[in-house]
Amino acid sequence: MAALLLNDARNAGSWRLAEYEAGGGYQSARKALTSLTPEAVRDEVRKAALRGRGGAGFPAGAKWGFVPQDGAGPRYLCVNADEGEPGTFKDRRILTRTPHLLLEGIIIASYAVGVHTAFVYIRGEYEMIARRLEAAVAEAYACGCLGRRVLGSEFGLDVLVHRGAGAYVCGEETALLESLEGKRGWPRLKPPFPATIGLFRQPTVIQNVETLANLPRLMADGAAAFLALGRPKDGGTRLFGVSGTVVRPGLYERAVGTPLREIIFEDAGGLPPGRRLKAVIPGGLSSPLLLPDEINVAMDVDSLAAAGSMLGSAGIIVIADDTPIVTVLDRMASFYAHESCGQCTPCRLGTSWLAKIASRLAKGEGRPGDPAEIERVAGLVRGRTLCPLGDAAALPILALTRKFRTELDAAVAHPRPPEAPR
Ligand code: SF4
Repeated sequence: MAALLLNDARNAGSWRLAEYEAGGGYQSARKALTSLTPEAVRDEVRKAALRGRGGAGFPAGAKWGFVPQDGAGPRYLCVNADEGEPGTFKDRRILTRTPHLLLEGIIIASYAVGVHTAFVYIRGEYEMIARRLEAAVAEAYACGCLGRRVLGSEFGLDVLVHRGAGAYVCGEETALLESLEGKRGWPRLKPPFPATIGLFRQPTVIQNVETLANLPRLMADGAAAFLALGRPKDGGTRLFGVSGTVVRPGLYERAVGTPLREIIFEDAGGLPPGRRLKAVIPGGLSSPLLLPDEINVAMDVDSLAAAGSMLGSAGIIVIADDTPIVTVLDRMASFYAHESCGQCTPCRLGTSWLAKIASRLAKGEGRPGDPAEIERVAGLVRGRTLCPLGDAAALPILALTRKFRTELDAAVAHPRPPEAPR
């Protein structure tokens, strides 16, 4: 399978405009702007079944279709480059190695939706990456790829890079909008959805970096070819980041629907000698973990949902048999307690409560009722919060307590010595 996203990323100086153009860069945007109507571009993306690569997996074409085309005032595109999901390191590769691929995708999406101002909200910790993206934006303006007449067309587009301040919750789309507006990054109540009332109360499309980076190739090859790479309702390829206990951790581009087992044992080389697989987190920390006998699952949005987990950001974390499950639980619970914005009570109290119990279990100070209490509290958080962070905390913890209940009970009955501080 030809790599769509990582191919050019291997070339020396791949982030520079000259390199990008030498490989055919900006030709897809040129084609869209000069020979296709915005409706035709939207239709092509819909037919390609391009689903969001940020976490929710919503079809991009359908999302664009919700944006009213007849209202007064501007529409906006906000690029979610706030990559903060533990186990996820894919967007940074695109931003670092092929920022013009993203910019070309932004042009295509903006043209399709009728946007003339796009914002890239980039994770605060991505300091060097943000500077590289800003340099690419400057190059694109200098050569007429951005500005009042994009690529010599009648279409105008400005792109602004905005750095976040390091809050995980700002990866949630409405918190991102609040933050962009200069306010505290607190998620908004939905509806209304951003497609109708978004940034500065104007219709707004929010799209992940990898999703947009797929557009140049999708437009070059056509919807049918893109769709054929993946599954009937989930086209193209995905960037799978593999971390944890594997021989070759890294980023692998594979067709949507590639079995999880294949990615772990063929691409990433499996586990080192002497280690056995205990569990896999398939789509970033928010996705419920899978047991070894569940990893034949196809890595697409619907198959993972049917397996009781989610594809999320496709960040695969491999857990070996020598990792105590209480350690996994402790890291999970403490992360969400730290990142909860505190706006709604079930998440604010529930995540800190879970973190407290998980911490004492990991220290070997667990109490007999603790595993049941974790399950009860996570059940109270689930489905009762304002934004998806509540479920992102509760669902993996619920899966862990159900699948590893025996080990959790044993951790209470026979506590092991606490880990040395790291
Ligand atoms: Fe904030 Fe958590 Fe409520 Fe989301 S679920 S709004 S992160 S408190």
